[in-house]
Amino acid sequence: MRDRLSPDQVRLREELAAAREQIVALLRSAVGEGLAPEQAQEMVEEVRAWSGPNAFRLLRFLSGRPDALRAPGSDCPLPATRLLLLLAAAGFGDRVAPAACADCGRTDPVPSRSGPEGRVCERCAARRGTKPCARCGTMARINSRREEGGICKPCRDKEPGARKECGICHRMMVPDRHLPDGTYLCQTCAPRKLRACCRCGRERRIAALTADGPLCGGCYSSPPRLCGVCGKVSPIHTRATGTSPDTCYTCAKGHEETCSRCGKVGRGQRIDYGRGAFSCDPCAPGEVRKREPRPCTLCARTRAVGIFWPMGPVCGPCYAKARSMPALCASCGRQRILIGRTASGDLQCRTCALPDGPPHRCTGCGESADLLPGRRCPRCTLTARVSDLLSGDAVTIPGSLEPLARVLTGAANPYPVLAWLRRSPAAQLLGRLAREAGPLDHEALDALPQRHATAYVRGLLVTAMILPPRDENLALLTNWAARTLAGLPPHHAMLISPFAEWHIIRDARRRSARGRYSYAAHKGDCTNIRAAINFLTWLDTQRLTLADLGQSDLDTWAAGNPTLRARSIPFIRWATARRLTTTGLTIEHPPSQFPGHFQVEEVHQAELRRCLGDASLPLDVRVAGALVRLYALTLTRIVELTADQIRHDEGHTYLTVSRHPVVLPPKLARLIEEQLQHNASRPSGVDGTRYLLPGHSPGRTRNPASLSERLKRYGLPARAARNTAMMEALADLPPMVISDLFGIDPKTAERWAAFAGGRWSDYLATHRI
Ligand SMILES: [Zn+2]
Ligand SMILES: [Zn+2]
Ligand SMILES: [Zn+2]
Ligand SMILES: [Zn+2]
Ligand SMILES: [Zn+2]
Ligand SMILES: [Zn+2]
Ligand SMILES: [Zn+2]
Ligand SMILES: [Zn+2]
Repeated sequence: MRDRLSPDQVRLREELAAAREQIVALLRSAVGEGLAPEQAQEMVEEVRAWSGPNAFRLLRFLSGRPDALRAPGSDCPLPATRLLLLLAAAGFGDRVAPAACADCGRTDPVPSRSGPEGRVCERCAARRGTKPCARCGTMARINSRREEGGICKPCRDKEPGARKECGICHRMMVPDRHLPDGTYLCQTCAPRKLRACCRCGRERRIAALTADGPLCGGCYSSPPRLCGVCGKVSPIHTRATGTSPDTCYTCAKGHEETCSRCGKVGRGQRIDYGRGAFSCDPCAPGEVRKREPRPCTLCARTRAVGIFWPMGPVCGPCYAKARSMPALCASCGRQRILIGRTASGDLQCRTCALPDGPPHRCTGCGESADLLPGRRCPRCTLTARVSDLLSGDAVTIPGSLEPLARVLTGAANPYPVLAWLRRSPAAQLLGRLAREAGPLDHEALDALPQRHATAYVRGLLVTAMILPPRDENLALLTNWAARTLAGLPPHHAMLISPFAEWHIIRDARRRSARGRYSYAAHKGDCTNIRAAINFLTWLDTQRLTLADLGQSDLDTWAAGNPTLRARSIPFIRWATARRLTTTGLTIEHPPSQFPGHFQVEEVHQAELRRCLGDASLPLDVRVAGALVRLYALTLTRIVELTADQIRHDEGHTYLTVSRHPVVLPPKLARLIEEQLQHNASRPSGVDGTRYLLPGHSPGRTRNPASLSERLKRYGLPARAARNTAMMEALADLPPMVISDLFGIDPKTAERWAAFAGGRWSDYLATHRI
């Protein structure tokens, strides 16, 4: 041990002590007196800059610029980058900004590597180590060595044999994961690395690792940094590049500033997505050009421009349509978003229209495609979303749900399915059901609230043959009956249960087996049961029982309940037949319920002309409206019409409603043809049934009540029109022919005929205007 220090050592010690004092003073002047000197020392010690050369490096950095801590440049030494994080964590976040990577501008992870132009993050440091690929010549990281030299990963993936069969989706794909059992998984199917987000707690893919823990994409927002435009510290919209600074959201979007072109201060934006110079709105070329109406190159209408594509300006609606309905490219034949035109004027895709542009290749299947976020093609994205939705662990789809996954991923156009997965409550319900452990059957769905989404999910599961098809109208009746009966007092349930089960439901089953149990029939049966319950409740209020019910009591009930009177007949008959009442009790059927609603002929004809000729009406409204007005079909009948009931021959189109086909007028035939083509993309039912007016759920008919509402909305209500059409038909045809053509019950046709002979003429006499 020496007792004396050399003069150099003494000088060094003095210099170090002075440096430490200066560091603490500079830190406190930068972040404020709130930082105690001891705290400052502790932090500097923690980042190992209290002694040695690091102390002098830190001092040089702090004293170099007055705003060193608020805008650390890429010359920021490593201890300082860590010191900035400590200061932010200690509550001085508004006075300091974390150091950013000189290449990508990220502040997280800390730019821990030094490069020639300053600090860069690990990823950018790795990217800087790129060399030209020996095969394609692009600057890339060398993935494999071949005779001609190192090649990049895209080139290696293109070599024969590079693709392997994915063990889950069975497509030939670039392998992403090699499993111990020798199988491969593609990038789409390989399990994601999921972790619990420290803010929202959900198991998600992690966007960033912060001091608090991992954060999911939804919870992560980029840490605030100094905006190079306005000088405020706020989240950054566009990262700095070699030519432009970090730009905050306000500066990247519209705000007021001096225009780089005309020199005036005005509202505008940094052009080129916030990367270019500031331009006021009148001077900014593309951004404002869009707002001027121009003829759309697709629809020729003069409208505000949605986008400028190589083929020319495209209006907003056409842009949305082109994006959501990719079509076949005239040059390469792939299903793509078509943005250009060939010399002959046909539409072509980006790859064919801009052959020199950067290639857009899907990272999943390697095909050139219109990439979605994640740089995957729509089909690979769909496969990934479907497996996310249907697998509890985001890895494997349960075997029982695989047919459904095939139905969803097999759609001809993935875009509508993607939109459905994103937005539809039915998709959310499907995901929830797939994640829950319980069995997935009709009963499980029956236990849920019966909404559109439930019906839709059921339809999908039936289409995918995961659930057996069943008569939904019958199921509506049995479920309604079960729920209603469960709520009855025991002395009512004792009577209503056998009536519902053995009379109403058994008869409904019989009709359903013959395929003739309609939605309206289910409604009628429910009303019959409700009438029986109301009748029993009325008996209680009269202190009567079925056994001591007399004809006069029954007449009182019938008079007091005109709407339920006819509906209570089945129950009274049933009870009388089972000797629960005295014999001989009857309620008369109320006088034939003929419609009081008719139309004057001119109105009827005008509405029919609208249906056949008004192109501004929706197609389904026109078809249904015309069928009502021409053939007196009820909406219950119309929703059940299928493509099989339409037939063409020798220039005529025939519709077979009952036994004999009727020739359709050419205008209606064309409407029906268009309607069938319009449906072509929708999935048909399990048995291949294609409804003329398909319902909301796959393979189901439309609800006649909602169709009726829709017709009313377009000023074409069905009821009076149908009655009028029936009357007109009866003027020319005998009732038997009408029953054969329109498929109504012969008795009903007779009653109509009688009515037409009598009151119809009176009606017209009194109502003609
Ligand atoms: Zn290459
Ligand atoms: Zn796969
Ligand atoms: Zn989260
Ligand atoms: Zn700014
Ligand atoms: Zn300007
Ligand atoms: Zn257009
Ligand atoms: Zn193409
Ligand atoms: Zn792909």
